[in-house]
Amino acid sequence: MSIEDFQPLDSGVVPRFAGPCSFMRLPFAKPREVDIALLGVPFDGGTTNRTGARHGPREIRNQSSLVRRVHHVTGVSPFDLLRVADCGDAPVNPLSIDDSLTTIASYFADIRRSGAVPLAIGGDHLITLSILRGIVKDGPVGLIQFDAHTDTYDSFFGSRYNHGTPFRRAIEEGLLDPKRMIQIGLRGAISHRSNYDFANDAGIRIVFIEELVERGINDIMSEARSIVAGGPTYISFDIDVIDPSMAPGTGTPEIGGLTTREAQAMIRLLRPLNIVGADLVEVSPPLDPSGGTALAAAVLMFELLCITAESIAGPRRT
Ligand code: MN
Ligand code: MN
Repeated sequence: MSIEDFQPLDSGVVPRFAGPCSFMRLPFAKPREVDIALLGVPFDGGTTNRTGARHGPREIRNQSSLVRRVHHVTGVSPFDLLRVADCGDAPVNPLSIDDSLTTIASYFADIRRSGAVPLAIGGDHLITLSILRGIVKDGPVGLIQFDAHTDTYDSFFGSRYNHGTPFRRAIEEGLLDPKRMIQIGLRGAISHRSNYDFANDAGIRIVFIEELVERGINDIMSEARSIVAGGPTYISFDIDVIDPSMAPGTGTPEIGGLTTREAQAMIRLLRPLNIVGADLVEVSPPLDPSGGTALAAAVLMFELLCITAESIAGPRRT
């Protein structure tokens, strides 16, 4: 099937509030039929505080009906570059973390074998560990993480698998190269002075929000590109990096965060990159009945899709 078979519904023909509810009004397809697979991972069993991220994929699909075809700055339409479709949701068990870790990883291993690059919508941040287990096969990859938190804790409540631990586990399992990792937007008081020891000892580059404000986004994103150094890279975007005034629908909000406009520009500054996959996590629609957090997530997902499509397809052709 060709690119023409994977176009969003025309809003001049089918109104944005009508038709099937898919990501960006794209058709549903199998991963093997596409170049970039948009996927939901509706699991929030790893949440330590306020829940609800299991509802993220469905509400972001809804809000993404407002996403249009062409990027207003770059002029790029990802739908003209590559085959992109909604490939549905990964199988999860809301009553079992262990089951879900296994089924999500196995689902993403299938995606990897299909040849499609996944762009996943969570779910809480624990899903990233499963995704990496599924798609990383030829040695550790780099990571660009947008987050208010490191997520490199060892355990909570005696459990080593929750949304505060995925990046520590991924490093221990050889899925991520800590020397090719950068975490951007960290802030907020911590429980113990030692909370950053693991990340610092491992060699992860941590950019607190204060440094970002001081140096500016161009400088920081240029450093991010140089840290991953052209090698295979995963992008993980936790919506709580955005200030809760603009994205209140998340489980662990921290004030003093990015604006949505800064986040858009920062993602855009990453291109081109050797992207093996990306996710956007921690959107909890029940905590923001206005839908604003999910709308922010849908538009940031479009930014991630644009840089992924451009990175795979090469320079703009049209
Ligand atoms: Mn976070
Ligand atoms: Mn996180």
